Parts: sequence; structure tokens; C-alpha cells
Amino acid sequence: QAKEQGRDGWRFFSEEIHEQARRRLDITNGLRQAIERDEFQIRFQPILCAQSQIVRGAELLLRWFPSGGEVSPAHFIPIAEMSGSIVPIGKWVFQQACFAEKQWRDQFGTEAPYVSVNVSARQLNDDGLVDEFRAMLTASGADPERIVLELTETSLMSDVIFNLSVLHQLASLGLRVAVDDFGTGYSSLAQLLRLPLSTLKIDREFVDGLDKRHDSRAIVRAVCGMARAMNLKVIAEGVENASQFGYLRDLGCDYVQGFHFYRPLPPDEFVSLLHESSAAGRLVTSDDLYSL
Ligand code: C2E
Ligand code: MG
Ligand code: MG
Ligand code: MG
Repeated sequence: QAKEQGRDGWRFFSEEIHEQARRRLDITNGLRQAIERDEFQIRFQPILCAQSQIVRGAELLLRWFPSGGEVSPAHFIPIAEMSGSIVPIGKWVFQQACFAEKQWRDQFGTEAPYVSVNVSARQLNDDGLVDEFRAMLTASGADPERIVLELTETSLMSDVIFNLSVLHQLASLGLRVAVDDFGTGYSSLAQLLRLPLSTLKIDREFVDGLDKRHDSRAIVRAVCGMARAMNLKVIAEGVENASQFGYLRDLGCDYVQGFHFYRPLPPDEFVSLLHESSAAGRLVTSDDLYSL
């Protein structure tokens, strides 16, 4: 009896594995055609100055709608990285960031927010990346100094030697570099200091702990202090309530982003928000105070 159950258990287990592998393969194949099939959309999640609560930037987040549904980036990005599709997808995403930067600056001038875009480590290993980004910047008329590339701490610390030179080339185009999900990887501070960084994005995990745990507060305080010493800005991501926001402002965090303020918005809704804010005098031109 027990033996039978064991064997059945194994059979279900192996069917489950098989099913997972099949779904993965579907996603891998689907991703290859997603651009030409026009299945990607983008969202912009506002990034606000912690002191004034003025919108100063937006993170571009990718959404995929293959026929019959939506697949979360947390699920498809790792598969795209593994299969290599992230290279063409990442170019498409950067192109969208260029268009957005140009469009917002045309409409709002110096009040326009900057645009932040996620870049995978896998993209940095693509030989053509720097030339292609340069060409897209030129063709679109986007201002590289108003585009931030977000690289996760984990990806920055892997393959550091190679990334270093590509990162410096990207930075010398004028692009800014932010460390995403900061605090979850294993950064050596010595290595961090060798990167051309402008911003640290504190991971949601620490923001989540702010109103529950003392050590999260100590970590956020330490990161903000370190960032100031290194002349970097700090963004807290995943801010979900007023109490977390209160801590972040008091602890010296420069910018905030999260559902407490705004969810990721479709591009036209984000532009409407900018129009409303501008009309209400809620955008500022003083780049000294709020620029990256
Ligand atoms: P990320 O870069 O750390 O982006 C922040 C994620 O947190 C987004 O999830 C955002 O919707 C979510 N978020 C923002 N505020 C809150 C909040 O208050 N509470 C909670 N619970 N979540 C919040 P999303 O859009 O599902 O993206 C997940 C991850 O997928 C991103 O994490 C990023 O690593 C990756 N990703 C998304 N778009 C791209 C892309 O265009 N290229 C690359 N390479 N990766 C991307
Ligand atoms: Mg990000
Ligand atoms: Mg993040
Ligand atoms: Mg994250």
C-alpha cells in the first residue's frame, strides 16, 4: 500500500515537473515573437521627492500580454535572461525609455521627470549594447542624463570585471546608473565604489520591515548615511503606507516609490498626472534641489 502511494506520488511529481517544463518552453518560444506580435506594454511608476512629494521620475516596468492572458515580469524576465531573449527585449525597452524622455521633456521642459529603466546583467554581456544605446539616444533625441539604468545588486556583483568596462562606457554616454534591490545581494563596498553610480534603490524588504523591526530602521539609516558620504541618492521602493513613508523621510531617504503613492500607470495616465501636477504648481523646475 505504502509502496503504491509512493509510486503514485512519484508519478504526480514527475507529471508536475513535465508540465512546468512545457510551460517554460511555451514562454521561451512566446517571448521570441512577443515584440513583433506587439504583446508588450509598458507602465510608469512615479518616483517622488520624499520631502516635497513632487514627482521627479518614473520607473518603466514591462508588461506582457500573450494571447489569453498576462504573465508577470517576475516570471518571464528570468526566462528571457536564460534564453537570451532579454537582449532584443531590453533594446525595445530602452527605446521606449528614450521616446518617453523626449516626449516628457518636449511637454514639460525642465519640470519633466527622469525615466528609470531596468537592465539585466545579460544585456551587458552583449557586444553591441553600447553602440546600440548610443544610436537610440541620438535617433530619439533623448537626453541621456535624464535616463537611469537600474541594475540589481546581484547582477552588478557577478562578472564584475566585464560589467565594469561596459558600465563605464554607458556612464560616459551620460546615462545614470542605479543599484536596484540594494541590500539583498552581496556587495563588496570596495567594488561598489568602483562603479559609476548615481543612486541606490533600497529593496522593498527593508521598507516592509520599517514599521515592524528595529533592524530595518538601522539598515535604512546606515544606507542613507553611506549614500550621502558617497554622494549618491537613495530611493526607497515598495512604500505601502504612511508609517513607512514617515520613517523614510526622517531617516534621510531622498526619493520614494510605491503603492502608497501610485501603482505603475499606463503611459497616458502618467502624462495626465504630470499635466495635473503641473497645472497645480506641483512640478518644479529647480533642478538643484531635486535632480539626481
Ligand atoms: P524591480 O525593478 O525591483 O521593480 C519594482 C517592482 O515592485 C515592480 O514589480 C513594481 O510593480 C513593484 N512595486 C512597486 N511598488 C510596490 C509596492 O508598494 N508594493 C509591492 N508589493 N510591490 C511594488 P513588477 O513590475 O512586477 O516587476 C518585477 C521585476 O521584474 C522588477 O523588479 C524587475 O526586476 C523586473 N522587470 C520589470 N520590467 C523589466 C524590464 O523592462 N527589464 C528587465 N530587465 N527587468 C524588468
Ligand atoms: Mg527596478
Ligand atoms: Mg527594485
Ligand atoms: Mg525588486
